[in-house]
Amino acid sequence: MAAQKVAVVTGGNKGIGFGIMKELSAKFDGLVYLTARDEGRGLAAIDELSKLGLSARFHQLDIDNAESITTFADYIKKTHGGLDVLVNNAAIAYKVAATEPFGEQAENTIRVNVFGTLAVCRALFPLLRPHARVSTVSSSAGHLLRINGDEPAASALKQKFSSPTLTEDELCELMNQFVQKAKEGTWKKAGWPNSTYAVSKVGVSALTRIQQRAFDADPRPGILVNCSHPGYVNTDMTSGKGPLTIEEGAVSPSYLALLPPDVKEPRGAYLWYDKQIVDWVNGPTPSAY
Ligand code: NDP
Repeated sequence: MAAQKVAVVTGGNKGIGFGIMKELSAKFDGLVYLTARDEGRGLAAIDELSKLGLSARFHQLDIDNAESITTFADYIKKTHGGLDVLVNNAAIAYKVAATEPFGEQAENTIRVNVFGTLAVCRALFPLLRPHARVSTVSSSAGHLLRINGDEPAASALKQKFSSPTLTEDELCELMNQFVQKAKEGTWKKAGWPNSTYAVSKVGVSALTRIQQRAFDADPRPGILVNCSHPGYVNTDMTSGKGPLTIEEGAVSPSYLALLPPDVKEPRGAYLWYDKQIVDWVNGPTPSAY
């Protein structure tokens, strides 16, 4: 008998992550884990789902905590022996009015959104089964053209990010360089934009391409890694300003998580909220949110 399929959503307790949970627990042919850094908020979300007639399991997972990640990966390995879907949704964003110094915002945003996501992937990827799907939530801010600081440095950075031979270590090095320049106050001259969030999302978009290349050479067949811009969505992150509902925001990330086993595309791609594939290197990005 084939093993029961297993899906995992990070930051599933609210916002777009909760929207993805609704979609996956209704449509995924297997068990869906709602993970959250806070057990109380996670269990409350499981209750919300059950009121909708949907069922999911809960496990604690803080993507910013190495021990939490290891505990979760060990649990999945021991309980299920493998994993079929990973949705990297959890992320943070400072509000525009935030008063923390730019360098501090850069350090925290890159640590959670890029290094946290990467740590989860490194822990869970060995468990992925053939034809697994990885869906990472990026942003319109994660398009390569958002690297728009001073020239010629910005173009040199874009070339590095889009290189078909970029490695995870080189990507981490670029992220660390940004944090350092942000702390020194010289980020713009070094080519970086004024948004720490944009840099973090360009980072996970670049990571998606690197990860797909690695899976293309992996003995496990058919694993697809993609990322998407969910749209401008009404959540706590946007202080309720986004015009899209969480259900609408969940469309692209859920589509990528539920790609049927026989498809070859999209692979290593960057999608818009309406599921269209956008050229991440050259653009243009569609105009609507
Ligand atoms: P919310 O702030 O509403 O939700 C973020 C989720 O991530 C929460 O569940 C939060 O948990 C969780 N989270 C934050 N840090 C961690 C951590 N260290 N470990 C585990 N979970 C964590 O944001 P959205 O729903 O709006 O955002 C979801 C995704 O969509 C993010 O990747 C975001 O960048 C992206 N996005 C959102 C857009 C929008 O318009 N809303 C636009 C483009 C991209 P907790 O409740 O504990 O804080």
